[in-house]
Amino acid sequence: MSKLAIVTGGTRGIGYAISKRLKEDGMAVAAIYGGNAEAAKKCADEIGVATYQCDVSDAKACEEVIGQIESDHGGVSVLVNNAGITRDGAFHKMTAEQWGQVISTNLDSAFNMTRPVINGMRDRSFGRIINISSINGQKGQFGQTNYSAAKAGLIGFTRALAQECARKGITVNAIAPGYIETEMVGAMKQEVLDSIVAGIPVGRLGQPEEIAAAVSFLAGDDAGFITGATLSQNGGQYIAA
Ligand code: NDP
Repeated sequence: MSKLAIVTGGTRGIGYAISKRLKEDGMAVAAIYGGNAEAAKKCADEIGVATYQCDVSDAKACEEVIGQIESDHGGVSVLVNNAGITRDGAFHKMTAEQWGQVISTNLDSAFNMTRPVINGMRDRSFGRIINISSINGQKGQFGQTNYSAAKAGLIGFTRALAQECARKGITVNAIAPGYIETEMVGAMKQEVLDSIVAGIPVGRLGQPEEIAAAVSFLAGDDAGFITGATLSQNGGQYIAA
């Protein structure tokens, strides 16, 4: 029987590419989305994955959707915590709402989704948890205290959970993408994009498929000795120790 992977935010952008790649790898894929049902339908039609609506910042909703996914497809082998949002603003003007939305969607979501799957993974002695962090969680970013804190938090979460789960056949890793060519980045003004690309040593934006390829590797059997790691995929823009 094929392994089951859950990809949060799996219907658009980087998550879409991850869902597609894991499906091509032979996994059953459940792609979770927040509210864009049209994009979810397009994703389901194009790549043939099951889609589920769930607000990943809502712990009860996550528990319920995972219960539904497991009853539809069986136990979860791979969890990709990818859903994320930005609500940028200089800290001296940031509202509690901007702070809270970003922390709950980008960081609380990792607890909300991982907690309901972890005991099943422990019982079956296999699991792959991959958390999509960001270059801005590694280096900090002007205007993104909320986002940088959440994404750095994901790296700490990854390192701690990796230690707790290692003896149970579960690996926990993070990926820290730099600028990736998604709709959001594509909508930027050309001169802004040009100045961003000028700061990337490889001289181009990353592609969602490149992040998906790394997820595919970390989700596979060959990556069983890699845990607690953060893989930077940023074209050399920030080279972390
Ligand atoms: P997109 O905005 O293209 O897609 C975001 C996805 O997350 C959508 O599927 C969206 O669902 C889902 N989502 C958002 N909020 C929620 C929620 N509350 N509950 C459930 N699902 C939700 O994002 P990207 O593909 O650009 O980014 C994916 C991840 O990669 C994010 O964590 C982002 O922070 C990170 N990242 C992105 C970079 C980039 O350059 N693009 C760089 C570094 C990190 P819906 O379609 O329903 O809105």
